[in-house]
Amino acid sequence: MLGELRLPGIKMVWAELAARADKEGWPAARFLAALAEYEIAERSRRRIARHMNEARLPVGKTIATFDFAAVPMVSKAQVMALTAGDAWLAGGANLLMFGPPGGGKSHLAAAISLALVENGRRVLFMRTTDLVQRLQVARQELALESAIAKLDKYHLLVLDDLAYVSKDQAETSVLFELIAARYERRSMLITANQPFGEWGKIFPDQAMTLAAIDRLVHHATILEMNVESYRRKTAIERKRGRGRPAKTATIKSSSD
Ligand code: ADP
Ligand code: MG
Repeated sequence: MLGELRLPGIKMVWAELAARADKEGWPAARFLAALAEYEIAERSRRRIARHMNEARLPVGKTIATFDFAAVPMVSKAQVMALTAGDAWLAGGANLLMFGPPGGGKSHLAAAISLALVENGRRVLFMRTTDLVQRLQVARQELALESAIAKLDKYHLLVLDDLAYVSKDQAETSVLFELIAARYERRSMLITANQPFGEWGKIFPDQAMTLAAIDRLVHHATILEMNVESYRRKTAIERKRGRGRPAKTATIKSSSD
């Protein structure tokens, strides 16, 4: 019966809980409440697991593994406030991250996304070129509008590496259509190697570039992550670590 009623959570625990209720002499109402609570918790767990799957986050990029000391201009407190999500996602505000390659933009974007999903939000993480590709196909099939509308279900859309949109992709305006459609309604997180000066290559003409930037920054938090490449830095430190006495050797340097 529980299967037919689609109550898999209760189905899983009722026998055990019933035995406990009998043994401890629970009133019927308490037993029923315990079952209902379990079903609700189980549904929420499954929902989050589903959203985690659909988000397509790069693996292993969490806030716990992000070294904030390497990016002094970004505070952990600020990032934690962003992961709560409420204020900015409700108003469709954006988060923009700029900085040279290897500075941790994608890592931090994925980490924030992960925390948002854990907090019950829906996120889609994509390389910008892949998303633009997908929207271009939709445009060819005269279904651009509905393809953009489908992305509305995501509270946050991450466009990783805006700078790498290719020339033929820039010639169509799908990216602009997306930005315009989400403006003040749904949030975007954009990472880019170059700040706005170079964005002319991403859109068909200058007017559209300016219009896109105007919408993106109107409600936005901008993180300028102008730091040395973390990959390079850790590689150099590892190399240096070899010559040091054992006492100062770190776990990182012993793994190479
Ligand atoms: P970007 O997207 O800015 O080019 P990434 O986020 O891809 O840089 O970072 C490059 C690599 O270095 C990744 O493996 C990432 O996990 C790691 N990394 C970068 N910054 C940090 C950091 N502050 N703490 C921990 N790992 C970092
Ligand atoms: Mg990146």
